[in-house]
Amino acid sequence: MKIVGGGLAGLAAAARLGEAGLDVDIHEARPFLGGRAASYRLTPSDPDSEHIDNCQHVLLRCCTELMDFYRKCGVADRIVFQSTLHLVGRGGTHDALFRDPLPAPLHLARSLLQMRGLGWKDKFSLLRCLAAVSRARKRDDLDDITFADWLRQHGATARSIAHFWRPVIVSALNEEPERASALPALQVFGEGLLGSRTSYEMGVPAVPLDELYSPALAGQFGPSVRLHLGSKVTAIDPRDQAADFYISAVPFDRVAALVPELGVEDQLQRFQPSPIVGIHLWFDRPITEFGHAMLVDGEVQWIFHKGGGYYLGVVSAARGLVRDPPAEIAQRAVAQLRETFPRAREAELRRSRVIKEMRATYSAVPGLERWRPGPHTRFPNLFLAGDWTDTGWPATMEGAVRSGYNAAAAVLAAIRSQGREPDTGEPAASKGA
Ligand SMILES: Cc1cc2nc3c(=O)[nH]c(=O)nc-3n(C[C@H](O)[C@H](O)[C@H](O)COP(=O)(O)OP(=O)(O)OC[C@H]3O[C@@H](n4cnc5c(N)ncnc54)[C@H](O)[C@@H]3O)c2cc1C
Repeated sequence: MKIVGGGLAGLAAAARLGEAGLDVDIHEARPFLGGRAASYRLTPSDPDSEHIDNCQHVLLRCCTELMDFYRKCGVADRIVFQSTLHLVGRGGTHDALFRDPLPAPLHLARSLLQMRGLGWKDKFSLLRCLAAVSRARKRDDLDDITFADWLRQHGATARSIAHFWRPVIVSALNEEPERASALPALQVFGEGLLGSRTSYEMGVPAVPLDELYSPALAGQFGPSVRLHLGSKVTAIDPRDQAADFYISAVPFDRVAALVPELGVEDQLQRFQPSPIVGIHLWFDRPITEFGHAMLVDGEVQWIFHKGGGYYLGVVSAARGLVRDPPAEIAQRAVAQLRETFPRAREAELRRSRVIKEMRATYSAVPGLERWRPGPHTRFPNLFLAGDWTDTGWPATMEGAVRSGYNAAAAVLAAIRSQGREPDTGEPAASKGA
């Protein structure tokens, strides 16, 4: 069994198949695991160089499969969940999303009604739209319209869009409401905000991302799973007898080159990338008491405290700034932080690093959902995984893990259909005889 890609999709598939006792070889082109959700040395040639995350990666409490994966890795306790989410605007206006001891969806009502950035008309429209989210999210035609269209149809006010709907959806889908399909947007709000009392809670890794994968490197998935780092696979030929089954767990823009005979070029062309920019800023001191903040009215959308004076700013759906020089982007981010947090005005910026991920995720435009393939391909022994495949989730860590589990389930089903038992490879009839 060969898996190509050591991101979350490939690792999740390996964890499941390792549990079933299958012989698994994971081939990862880079010298480290985690794919887009990885951390690496700032200066790769210097072994003592500082490690940074490839942008901040967060999850919500509703990311149940990702947490299951972290449990399999033995690292679930390194994810720290925040039950209060801070929304801060220029000038320092502060709102908080927190829960009351009431059943969902009433648990967030008080915090939404208290938002200072919204007037009563905005708050009323917000509650009405949230009520519509729970009714609407399973309809297929929602993938024909943008989320902005849906919001307008349901009477969302401009201020509620700017202060609440847009900031949440841009970071969850990596796309603007004017471009994003309503279907995944409503899934995010339906599961994230209304799913249960705690589903909105944000999980932030307390360690660099690579530490979440070190148990996998140390053999946590069982003796039958072998990792091959720095092992770029040039092509998969499913007819090749080198492995009985293959899982491609590479991004959408790599799969055609990896499996030239897959025959899904038309489908793949519908996927277009959307960038994310991470702005790493090292001040000489902490600039705010918040460990995280959603910045509701500026170019930088989120800021995370990484310790000391180190902050990581995030701009999703960043096509508007990817051509700007890094120094300018950092300068604008510092100016925004100084308008937002009074303490930042006294702080001195020591250094900065801007990382532009041009192909961070696919752009979740209307009409795309129906083109996301499931795990099966036209080859009975080749399966697809990756955040872009059909998981019912957007391109996220949760989506990637779900895709890996789906591909692993498809492999196990194929083995059973051959009359074998997954955990031994022996014929089913001889097992236990
Ligand atoms: C800047 C940024 C911020 C993000 N923030 C968040 C967030 O906060 N929360 C969230 O849930 N998601 C976030 N995401 C999305 C998340 O990182 C991805 O959805 C997820 O990690 C994708 O996992 P994957 O396994 O499908 O793909 P990848 O992580 O891309 O893994 C694919 C792997 O395949 C390898 N590979 C490719 N070709 C070959 C080959 N020929 N041979 C061998 N190996 C190969 C690659 O090196 C890579 O390691 C973010 C993404 C980015 C880029």
